Amino acid sequence: MSADTLPDADWDTVTGWGRTAPTGALVVRPRTYEEAAAAVRDCGVRGGIARGLGRAYGDAAQNAGGAVLDMTGLDRVHAVDAAGGTVLCDAGVSLHRLMEVLLPLGWFVPVTPGTRYVTVGGAIGADIHGKNHHVSGSFSRHVVSLELLTADGRVRTVAPGTPLFDATAGGMGLTGVILTATLRLQPVETALMSVDTERAADLDDLMARLTATDHRYRYSVAWIDLLARGGATGRAVLTRGDHAPLAALPARSRARRAPLAFRTSRLPATPDFLPGGLLSRTTVGLFNEVWYRKAPRESRGRLQRISTFFHPLDGVPHWNRVYGRGGFVQYQFVVGHGREEALRSIVRRISERRCPSFLAVLKRFGEADPGWLSFPVPGWTLALDVPAGLPGLGAFLDELDEEVAGAGGRVYLAKDSRLRPELLAAMYPRLDDFRTLRAELDPRGVFVSDLARRLAL
Ligand SMILES: Cc1cc2nc3c(=O)[nH]c(=O)nc-3n(C[C@H](O)[C@H](O)[C@H](O)COP(=O)(O)OP(=O)(O)OC[C@H]3O[C@@H](n4cnc5c(N)ncnc54)[C@H](O)[C@@H]3O)c2cc1C
Repeated sequence: MSADTLPDADWDTVTGWGRTAPTGALVVRPRTYEEAAAAVRDCGVRGGIARGLGRAYGDAAQNAGGAVLDMTGLDRVHAVDAAGGTVLCDAGVSLHRLMEVLLPLGWFVPVTPGTRYVTVGGAIGADIHGKNHHVSGSFSRHVVSLELLTADGRVRTVAPGTPLFDATAGGMGLTGVILTATLRLQPVETALMSVDTERAADLDDLMARLTATDHRYRYSVAWIDLLARGGATGRAVLTRGDHAPLAALPARSRARRAPLAFRTSRLPATPDFLPGGLLSRTTVGLFNEVWYRKAPRESRGRLQRISTFFHPLDGVPHWNRVYGRGGFVQYQFVVGHGREEALRSIVRRISERRCPSFLAVLKRFGEADPGWLSFPVPGWTLALDVPAGLPGLGAFLDELDEEVAGAGGRVYLAKDSRLRPELLAAMYPRLDDFRTLRAELDPRGVFVSDLARRLAL
């Protein structure tokens, strides 16, 4: 495809949120379904891949030398069923926009990740999970149906419980381009959260607290200090909560006057020229110490805005630049219940390795989701970020991959930029089904990404 066959297309450098492994692609910005179909039809030998807001950390939404379909121009909210609690929207709509539209009507998105700047297409493509996975499962469980533009140019209506749905939910854009989706929503009485916070002294204390009482909360997550060592290894701040009912708001408060108002705040953007070494072990160690100590030992029922509770990082535009030009790697894995020893061992290894990570979270997943390449399985998931330039990082994470795979666990493809393909089949047992369906649905391999090439998906 040449840059002038479509109205809005130009060659550009594309990266994931971690800003590692940039590659050049023809970025096409369809404004209509017909333009999306034309982009797929004309995308040439290097194929194409859909892209949302580029919040996948690695190379899932890029395609070296081929086409990248930026779907954010298809961003209409078509219909809200305010009585039944469903929304029909384009796949390029962001969760932020959905919150703006839905919260005043008393509805919330069923699952949100740690940023609301993801699209519905990206949420289904990666089958994202939120702090409520132990209760609500992942995003695709709340999809009533979706429309998928496949390699043959057809638009198929895809319903849950079908092989095509299960391949598409978590299928990283490789079954086609999602054009629209109908989602089931979560009712809320207010735009505030009622939040309990507590500190855990070490990893075992943290796991015991999560196991004993997670079921009481719809949302639960723990920030974990991966630089703490010795007896404090794995110390954490546990934050759990639920949507605040109207009755929980103080009488005559501002919140009472507009309980469903969606409020956010935004700080100035991070500059693009930060020195790479800003996040040293010393600065991150200090940050972690302060963060841990400033958290209340125990607090109950504190009211917080939805944006503060779910998306604190969204207040700082381009915070990913804090890692400097070299970018950073997100490493997220899950190991099942009964594999706590593997989790302990990995946390110990990370803290002994002194990885300067200040965004590390531990969560307990609920039931697995039907998507063949969906990430969650019942057990423990740890996510951490590490500057990409850390000496020896590649070999160290390769060793962690082995340990994760050996414990029957897996790494999350939406975060990945470096996994070796040999381990993939052990991590994702339905990989062969996925490959077979893809080969039948897209025999010419129209849909392809850097991630798909690297991992032979
Ligand atoms: C700060 C931060 C916090 C995060 N927290 C979490 C979290 O808590 N839980 C979690 O699960 N994830 C989390 N993520 C990851 C993020 O939710 C996923 O990577 C999500 O897929 C990003 O959506 P996007 O619209 O930016 O998609 P992109 O990053 O642009 O694309 C991601 C994948 O979706 C596919 N895709 C995008 N649009 C379409 C479409 N229309 N049709 C078909 N496929 C499509 C792409 O091909 C690609 O494979 C976080 C990311 C950030 C930056």
